[in-house]
Amino acid sequence: MKFGFDHSYHQLGSDFSVRVAPTPVSAPKWIALNEALAEELFLDPKRLKIEVGLDIFSGNRLPEDACALAMVYAGHQFGHFVPQLGDGRAILIGEIIDKNQNRKDLQLKGAGLTPFSRQGDGRSPLGPVLREFLLSEAMHALGVPSTRALAAVSTGESVCRDEALPGGILCRVASSHLRVGTFEYFAHQKKWEALERLIAYAVERHFSEYERKTSLAHHLFHHVCQRQSELVASWMSLGFIHGVMNTDNTSISGETIDYGPCAFMEEFKSDQVFSFIDRHGRYAYENQPAIAMWNMQCLGEALFKFLSTDEKRAKEIVRKELEFFEEHFLRQWWFKMSQKFGFFSFDEKIRSLILNFLKEMERSRLDFTQSFRYLVEFNPEARGFVDLSDKISDEWLNSWWALLTTQKETQQQSFDLMKRVNPIYIPRNHLVEAVIQEAQSQQSLVGFHKLWEALKTPFQRQEGLKQYETPAPPGEKVCQTFCGT
Ligand code: AMP
Ligand code: MG
Repeated sequence: MKFGFDHSYHQLGSDFSVRVAPTPVSAPKWIALNEALAEELFLDPKRLKIEVGLDIFSGNRLPEDACALAMVYAGHQFGHFVPQLGDGRAILIGEIIDKNQNRKDLQLKGAGLTPFSRQGDGRSPLGPVLREFLLSEAMHALGVPSTRALAAVSTGESVCRDEALPGGILCRVASSHLRVGTFEYFAHQKKWEALERLIAYAVERHFSEYERKTSLAHHLFHHVCQRQSELVASWMSLGFIHGVMNTDNTSISGETIDYGPCAFMEEFKSDQVFSFIDRHGRYAYENQPAIAMWNMQCLGEALFKFLSTDEKRAKEIVRKELEFFEEHFLRQWWFKMSQKFGFFSFDEKIRSLILNFLKEMERSRLDFTQSFRYLVEFNPEARGFVDLSDKISDEWLNSWWALLTTQKETQQQSFDLMKRVNPIYIPRNHLVEAVIQEAQSQQSLVGFHKLWEALKTPFQRQEGLKQYETPAPPGEKVCQTFCGT
């Protein structure tokens, strides 16, 4: 079967990637096929499901028009520069222009060794595959740019971590896999001609729809700053903690990428950290905007030579764009937060109201997602605010109501807005863990499919799914997450 692949990244030349075939696996089985996404990519879900998909998504037999390769990149990991990383367990098989005319990469994650595997085995346990599937699809349904999950299979082989675990492969779909670390790689190597080509390629692929008044590199830098600041504002407004915001995990398209030890926070804690490897809390919830900005500084340094021929001017560009990042992030954050409370505009009063709510939420250790849904269900006549009224002060509720009802928009409009932006279902950690356990120990995917279904429409209450709305019971709380690589 042909996928209708294109290979624009491969055509950049041999400096950028290494051809490598997936390593076959012994007994692949279907976990899931994302039929709606397949259709967006002009792939026939029936044919995939019945005929060729299992072979293809397990890496046992590639589409005839595939061109499998591992991409090279570098990256700052926890603040330290690693000059060469690259796809160690992921293989790009081709690009498809989708129904919206957007170019998408298809990548098999966990498909075997590549020249960049270093000490790793090129494989992934099934658990992280299920996690990435659910979290990335949930993120997309929540309206936040994200890589997607087209398919997942189990391999029939075990992977050795602390214990032997069943292996899995995820077919990830991304607007591209260009990362800040891709640019850092070529800058560090002083491969200027290749870097120049990469900049032109990235602009053409991601930012050609915007009018360009500056150099290609400046245009790229500006738009990456813009998308990253918007992305982090979206994460923050949903209580999402990425967990490993290294520059190799920062996509220049502005999509969330690399769902490792990430999590949606339950009890609100501004310095919350989940990731087991993040010992110093570098990537804590509240640090994310500053870290994203730090990552943009790294991109600025990688692009430096091409921002301007005048060094002073190049420095000024970096400074200005970082300033823009900060301003744009704050604008987006306050805008998104105001909407969560039903406001159509933003001013100082709303700002202090929001800050006070966050303070009360943190003091009473309230669930981030549920607290906003309580607001949606507020009934002013009955003060039917059973779940929150003992935790959020009457004083706060009164000031919120007073501000809300002085807007020119109707109460109904405010509540409709709040319903559109405050989800009912998020992929709560304990739910995802339970699904993984069930898949591993009972080989059942019932829980996985049920949770995925709920996460497809996170703003719509569905019958019989009350247990997905509430935080983990005390015994099931997940306080730490692992990379699982
Ligand atoms: P991550 O922290 O998942 O972004 O991965 C960082 C780097 O380690 C990337 O270059 C990955 O390709 C590589 N890596 C992670 N896990 C494995 C593995 N099991 N085998 C080979 N390389 C890996
Ligand atoms: Mg990564």
